[in-house]
Amino acid sequence: MRFGVAKRGPGRRNLVKYSPIQRERRPPFPFSFLLDATMTAQIIDGKALAETLRQSFKARVEALAAKGHRPGLVVILVGADPASEVYVRNKVNGCLAIGMHSEKITYDASVDQAVVLAKIAELNADPNIHGILVQLPLPKHFDEEKVLEAISAEKDVDGFHAENVGALAQGNPRFIPCTPYGVMKMFEQGKVDLNGQEAVVIGRSNIVGKPMALLLINAGATVTVCNSRTRDLKFHTSRADIVVAAVGKPKFVTGDMIKPGAVVIDVGINRLPDGKLCGDVDFASCAEVAGQITPVPGGVGPMTITMLLANTIEAAERKAGL
Ligand code: NAP
Repeated sequence: MRFGVAKRGPGRRNLVKYSPIQRERRPPFPFSFLLDATMTAQIIDGKALAETLRQSFKARVEALAAKGHRPGLVVILVGADPASEVYVRNKVNGCLAIGMHSEKITYDASVDQAVVLAKIAELNADPNIHGILVQLPLPKHFDEEKVLEAISAEKDVDGFHAENVGALAQGNPRFIPCTPYGVMKMFEQGKVDLNGQEAVVIGRSNIVGKPMALLLINAGATVTVCNSRTRDLKFHTSRADIVVAAVGKPKFVTGDMIKPGAVVIDVGINRLPDGKLCGDVDFASCAEVAGQITPVPGGVGPMTITMLLANTIEAAERKAGL
């Protein structure tokens, strides 16, 4: 059923049907005319944007290759986690599809950390490799921080090295973590002016929530970062112009938590019992209230690998002095 559409027809006089959320939010008489009864969110299409960006990268890759600097990415995978294997394959194939060099190095889950650290040292010194990525999570016997810090900050295309995190915090980023970088590109695509906006980020992970918050701060937004201990999440989300959900809980953010017209970005990737993918946002109810929204799949997901390609090309351009 489509809500909020005026039905005109024989025997009916402008009957407007409101969804439960719209009913709850309908301004009281005499201001009810203020409600845009047909409001449904515009979709920010991450899949299409990712494709456009990837096409535009090809010329940069060829320009670099012509000067002897074909961008190269190495992805290290430890163990045989099926989801990680898919991510790694997509990363390598994403590089190859636009003419970059890419290779995967795999280790058994029982490998000694020293072996992986030695390989990273070798890759740090390899002039043909511009980006090094270690697929997370690592097996329990690994010290994740030590491994990430072993990657040269100049080749840390994931942006997780402390030096790069610090540069981002200072507002002078060198490599921006790929997922929040992709979200920033989606704001650009949706022509969202972040200056002065109230933004709420749900989640404070090093991979998504924290760097996302830093990017929003740098862009002039007023930022609130929520976590599992936040007392009244709805209080924060319902006054936000921008909500970024990075929680890891399917359909966690519902339409009644969203301010009408807000921009809702869904970072979540969750697998439902029926095998389908869904985000952290309940798309159906949020799309009724939001001004713009990202879908899952086809939203932030495709942008993440795209920005990994962007970071690797940027690394190669820096090395080539371009
Ligand atoms: P994470 O490390 O598990 O972090 C989840 C965050 O959500 C934590 O900060 C946690 O708070 C917070 N949280 C949990 N329950 C909450 C609640 N009830 N209220 C408010 N905050 C709550 O996950 P992540 O790595 O950031 O990933 C988040 C989601 O994004 C996952 O679905 C993941 O699969 C997805 N993801 C997608 C991409 C992509 O390319 N699209 C990339 C990375 C991740 P505490 O810190 O207090 O525990």
